[in-house]
Amino acid sequence: MITKHGGEFNEKAVIAPMQGFQGNIKALTVTRLSESENECATPRWIKRQCIQTERFFEHALGQLKPQSIYGNMFLNLEDGVLLNECLRMLSSGVVRADIRLYEPLSRWTTFRVGGSADALFIPRDEAELIKAIRAARDTNTPLTVIGNGSNLLVRDGGIRGLVLRIGPECEEALGNTQEPVCGTEPGADNIRLTVGAGVTLSQAARAAQRAGLAGMEAISGIPGSVGGAAWMNAGAYDREMSNIVESVRAIGRDGDALAFEGDALAFRYRGSAMMDAGVAITRVTFRLTEDDPRAIEERTAQYTAKRRAKQPLAAASAGSFFKRPAGHFAGKLIEDAGLKGLTVGGAQVSQMHAGFIINKGGASAADIIRLKDEVIARVFDKFGVRLEPEVRILGADA
Ligand SMILES: Cc1cc2nc3c(=O)[nH]c(=O)nc-3n(C[C@H](O)[C@H](O)[C@H](O)COP(=O)(O)OP(=O)(O)OC[C@H]3O[C@@H](n4cnc5c(N)ncnc54)[C@H](O)[C@@H]3O)c2cc1C
Repeated sequence: MITKHGGEFNEKAVIAPMQGFQGNIKALTVTRLSESENECATPRWIKRQCIQTERFFEHALGQLKPQSIYGNMFLNLEDGVLLNECLRMLSSGVVRADIRLYEPLSRWTTFRVGGSADALFIPRDEAELIKAIRAARDTNTPLTVIGNGSNLLVRDGGIRGLVLRIGPECEEALGNTQEPVCGTEPGADNIRLTVGAGVTLSQAARAAQRAGLAGMEAISGIPGSVGGAAWMNAGAYDREMSNIVESVRAIGRDGDALAFEGDALAFRYRGSAMMDAGVAITRVTFRLTEDDPRAIEERTAQYTAKRRAKQPLAAASAGSFFKRPAGHFAGKLIEDAGLKGLTVGGAQVSQMHAGFIINKGGASAADIIRLKDEVIARVFDKFGVRLEPEVRILGADA
């Protein structure tokens, strides 16, 4: 079943770059744009000759045992070569990974904006993660690691190359279970909890609470993955990851296993050694303290209530947009500059918490970036303080 949208369908040309691919393909949509029209929202790099089909694999890629690649593929027969080479390398032996071609990253970020990843790769275990990292290195394919997408603003042109998602879907083998690996030290006050990097902080905190381990209450409401939170030393209510993280395991850019511990973690305000080294975090070990599970639950509930009262949690956002400038609070400066409610397109400075930029619905990344620039300029004019984004801004303009 193939539907064509403009242009001539040239099956061979489309299949050729995929021929070496031995992975499992479930459903693939390929889009050909005619040279004259640009009817779909597409990034600039796709200038030519894509073909739109529905369930393309049924007809053309059936011989590749379709199973687990799905999504949309905008195939650029010239520029797609590197990516296809990378996919070919990834495919040998990869059977369980979830690879999504031309995947809109608005689906994977809490801001709900942004263009697509050329390929989004969700490894199921550490071996697949290493394979992906090495394939990207060997093919010079740009590689971007993301976690739960709660501190990201992806530009409207999307992200070229391979995006590796280490999120809650990376189950068992990355240590992401509902009951994370939990070890106790006999006779010691402190207790360790080890979880996979893709586990969300709230999942990890719940597991800790059930096990009678205190220390994660204040940060339990941060909607990131444990890996993302360790990477940037996330924190809230005067607690941060550095207070409770004992060690981190990661994979380096060459696919080597690395460990960070003690001073080597180099935690600082919204930064760490893992950030400096550009590694993919796979596991985090917390050092917590024993306490009554009910007392932990109560404290967690108090922090949750505080968050609900102060933050626009119903709106799409990436949390506080700006870092805390020395001696100030970003939200207060923005509010005092009279910028609450300032709007550009679908982006708005939250009425509830001026430190948040929200997507009211239909915002583009460009709207958010223009609003961010306006806020920075006006706060600087008024107070001489230059705000810096805490949110990671990735990808290319449309
Ligand atoms: C409503 C709301 C409230 C928030 N409140 C807070 C708060 O109180 N305190 C706070 O600090 N933050 C807060 N945030 C921001 C965000 O949740 C944190 O920054 C969180 O740590 C980001 O984790 P993530 O997994 O979502 O990372 P992502 O947003 O996916 O990625 C952020 C960065 O981390 C890197 N990264 C992610 N995972 C890995 C990994 N496994 N290995 C290597 N690098 C990785 C990525 O490369 C990227 O550069 C809030 C966000 C929202 C939407």
